[in-house]
Amino acid sequence: MIDPKHPRAKSLKTREEIIHGVDIGITSINGLIAQGRGEAFDYLLGENTNNFAKEAIRAAAAMLFLAKDPVLSVNGNTAALVVKEYIELSNLLHCPIEINLFHKTKERELRIKSYLESLRAKNVLVSNSKTKISSIASKRKFVNPKGIGKADVVFVPLEDGDRTEELIKLGKKVITIDLNPMSRTAQKATITIVDNIIRAFPLLIKETKRLQSFKKDELKKFVREFSNKKILNAAEEKIRKSF
Ligand code: ATP
Repeated sequence: MIDPKHPRAKSLKTREEIIHGVDIGITSINGLIAQGRGEAFDYLLGENTNNFAKEAIRAAAAMLFLAKDPVLSVNGNTAALVVKEYIELSNLLHCPIEINLFHKTKERELRIKSYLESLRAKNVLVSNSKTKISSIASKRKFVNPKGIGKADVVFVPLEDGDRTEELIKLGKKVITIDLNPMSRTAQKATITIVDNIIRAFPLLIKETKRLQSFKKDELKKFVREFSNKKILNAAEEKIRKSF
């Protein structure tokens, strides 16, 4: 039991959620390392949602609304931390959630699918061995033709750099959430939300609801005026100043 008065209570709770994910077989043991890497950056970023993240969240919500075929890519860590948020966003956007794993086993893929469906996710896709993005070296190359295969905008938080780069080369737009502004994913994505996914995802949902009544031209303006380079520079500046 984590003492709620502990100064790092939130961070310890997040660790417990990832460990639980490993215990129930939806998260890979390697996910613990990714979480640790994220925590270090969160510490340097002040463990709160900075203005550069809020700006990216607004552009991300606008881009998702403007997309013709958006898809939300989920992995073992994101399933352990923000599964309810995935389902809510997919319902808001009427788009699929696609399971895409780096340390892929069919068993884990199906376990995540059942987990999502037990929480009433309506449209969950798994990879298809006949459809692949050949330029990706890992098993992440296998995608679903109705999801990532045809998507114009792919939401891929906590991602590895190779896949982001290849998705961009295919002409897709990539939205990510990544605490490390220097990771290859953060650098290559179209929109990078530099924040902890447990804080950023609820804010992305709130923003998506707020923008629901906006006109297309207004949404386009948010996307047009967004500069990922500016956002990443601001995040790096924040980290430098934390020393
Ligand atoms: P790249 O290949 O893009 O350079 P990497 O090799 O560091 O990245 P992984 O080890 O797969 O990638 O880690 C995933 C990324 O997710 C890391 O950049 C890490 O900082 C980030 N991350 C981990 N946990 C969280 C979290 N809870 N919220 C946001 N970002 C996180």
